[in-house]
Amino acid sequence: MSIYQNKITLSHIKKSFGTAEILKDISLEVKEGQVVALLGPSGSGKSTIFNLITGLIVPEEGTIDVNGKVGYMYQNDTMVPWKKVIDNIALPLRFQGMKKREAREKVVGYLDTFGLLGYEDKYPGMLSGGMKQRANFLKTYLTSGDIILLDEPFGALDSMTRKKMQSWLLSVTKEMGATILLITHDIEEAIFLADKVYVLSDKPATILGEVQVAFDAERTEATLLEERFLLYKKEITDILQS
Ligand code: ADP
Ligand code: MG
Repeated sequence: MSIYQNKITLSHIKKSFGTAEILKDISLEVKEGQVVALLGPSGSGKSTIFNLITGLIVPEEGTIDVNGKVGYMYQNDTMVPWKKVIDNIALPLRFQGMKKREAREKVVGYLDTFGLLGYEDKYPGMLSGGMKQRANFLKTYLTSGDIILLDEPFGALDSMTRKKMQSWLLSVTKEMGATILLITHDIEEAIFLADKVYVLSDKPATILGEVQVAFDAERTEATLLEERFLLYKKEITDILQS
């Protein structure tokens, strides 16, 4: 038995919407402290897997075991334009019944780590794309236990901002010791961020393959140019074409 607990276990999940079979046979494991990527084409059922994990929908077959409190950052998550950044981030805490002042104080403690210090009293329209995503991430993090689901968190960003955000995410997740399951359709993003990558087929989705990712040193932008990085890329490309 592993010393690390499984935080999420999906076993032989099957799910259809009406007559359309979406997930055929999905089994996956996420261990404590891991970053795991779900990589697959658009429409393959990735967001559906997240909805199953949070219990929003139920599978037809198979079992789901979640060991902890889950936070979910939705694809295209947005902030309300008429509320200050601080109050947007505090919103889920307020929904949980926390007083405004207490919720704001909690947010303030994280502004520096999330690169938002000095922007708390601005409105969302004044933030860059990267800052908006960091704010959304903080919003999710504050009401998560230790498991965070990120659905294409950098999808809407330009490639340079995206690279910066990926490095930032790595450093901050290490600091938080969070367990992360991340959806992406970007091979490089999956390799750069994850300890393990599950490669999904087109729908109906099955797991085509699973790749363990490890580098000798801490990941930086230079990692993207390492030979091992390219080998992972080839391995995943081959799985996708198999
Ligand atoms: P991905 O996130 O990989 O792009 P999704 O999980 O969002 O894919 O969707 C997979 C397929 O399931 C799509 O064809 C989508 O239209 C369909 N689908 C998703 N949710 C529902 C739903 N609640 N009802 C009917 N069809 C759905
Ligand atoms: Mg999706």
